[in-house]
Amino acid sequence: MKRLAGTLGMVCGWLLSVTAVGRPSEHMELPDWSRTPVEDRDLGHGVHMLESFGGNIGVLADEAGILLVDAEWPQLHDKVVAAVAHISPKPIRYLVNTHWHWDHVGGDAAFGKTGVVIFSSEQTRKHIADAQKQNGPAGEPYAPDPAGLPVVTIVSGVKFHLAGQTVEIIHVPPAHTDGDLIVRFVEADIVQTGDTFFHGFYPDIDQPHGGTIDGMIAFYDTLYKMCGPHTRIIPGHGPVANRDDVREYQAMLREVRSRVAKAVAAGMTEDALIAAHPLDDLDKKWGGNLIKAPYLLAIVYEELKPHP
Ligand SMILES: [Zn+2]
Ligand SMILES: [Zn+2]
Repeated sequence: MKRLAGTLGMVCGWLLSVTAVGRPSEHMELPDWSRTPVEDRDLGHGVHMLESFGGNIGVLADEAGILLVDAEWPQLHDKVVAAVAHISPKPIRYLVNTHWHWDHVGGDAAFGKTGVVIFSSEQTRKHIADAQKQNGPAGEPYAPDPAGLPVVTIVSGVKFHLAGQTVEIIHVPPAHTDGDLIVRFVEADIVQTGDTFFHGFYPDIDQPHGGTIDGMIAFYDTLYKMCGPHTRIIPGHGPVANRDDVREYQAMLREVRSRVAKAVAAGMTEDALIAAHPLDDLDKKWGGNLIKAPYLLAIVYEELKPHP
């Protein structure tokens, strides 16, 4: 598996879950933060999506304060705060973490220190706390910092009542991780998925933290049913999507799973599978972004191979 480090080095700048045993390792390729914009997409009903290098952020402003969903890299904190201030002068009060990955929670500590109340699933809080226990150096991801830990944990779900609207936070069965929260802005008809759904490119699946390809594929049925014809989806990464994009994505992932399963059933090694380039036809549409075929094949193979 380590062999993949060289080929994947530049690929997945945001993935920090990769150090666990049995997973391809990658190193970080970070942007020039000073030249990385945080762009504001106004989706109506007071809901905005902030798009930048890390995970997309959802924003809903109420007279009493602002709800954020996800917190980006800490290096983008000031730009995120400036973008939110452009939407509303009210204070940021609540922050929901969709899951534990750094490109979604890196900004937690800076928000926590200003009194923002951070919500997550129980699993996400545990994964962040466990990562902090590794005792990394100050300024590095998951360096010990109590302000970076969620304060309120959610078991199955919770609702916010803000700006005259309902915001449902739903803990879904394991997909990208075992602690994924998705967010429904009910009146605005918007669903924010965290990394359970990437729009336009291959997924990442954090199996060491409970993620599973079958959970991802099953989740797209849930997500589709949650959406009407006009529902906008804020994906973990990529532009705003709709339910047809979800169906197309599910079909792609089913196809990937079936090809890897066939290789496993035929006794093919992981090396032989990757060398056979079984996703070349899919690469044209799905392989042009941060996740490349060898990485996806390796993590799916790892999950589907016989585990004695
Ligand atoms: Zn992400
Ligand atoms: Zn993630």
